[in-house]
Amino acid sequence: YSGKKAGQDLSESVMNMKVKDFQSIPVVVSEKVSVYDAIAQMFLEDVGTLFVVNEQSLLTGVLSRKDLLRSSIGNKEISKIPVHIIMTRMPNITYCFKHDPLLHVAKKLIEKQIDALPVVAEHENGLEVIGRITKTNITAAFLSLAENHDL
Ligand code: ADP
Repeated sequence: YSGKKAGQDLSESVMNMKVKDFQSIPVVVSEKVSVYDAIAQMFLEDVGTLFVVNEQSLLTGVLSRKDLLRSSIGNKEISKIPVHIIMTRMPNITYCFKHDPLLHVAKKLIEKQIDALPVVAEHENGLEVIGRITKTNITAAFLSLAENHDL
């Protein structure tokens, strides 16, 4: 019985895993950029989800790979379509805060069948995007939990 955290209960460790300890840097685009430029940005930044912000840098939308694929199929004018036309928009965005338990985020990802959540901070006029949590971050957390319990 020589676990690094042998004295610590597994359930306690799980609840101590917070969003801020596992989040990634968010990639945001303006509402005005074209579908074409959003696709380029997605490849450039190597992410699967882009967050869309307005002129005040507040969260207004989410763009997934399939959102961009769907709008591109059979459409030759994607450099003329702004992303705000095709994005999933507020108030239908699922988000989280940096102090939330990662377990709650995992539950939301599965329940809503989505790949990523923006980590936000509340402001008077809306939500500022400060991070990104994806299924990859959850997998990394799962692994660190196993390692910390010598599994
Ligand atoms: P994909 O569409 O590439 O499979 P997702 O499963 O993440 O990727 O997205 C499915 C749908 O849910 C898309 O239309 C996307 O805009 C939307 N979506 C993705 N993330 C969120 C989120 N955090 N809140 C609300 N909707 C989201």
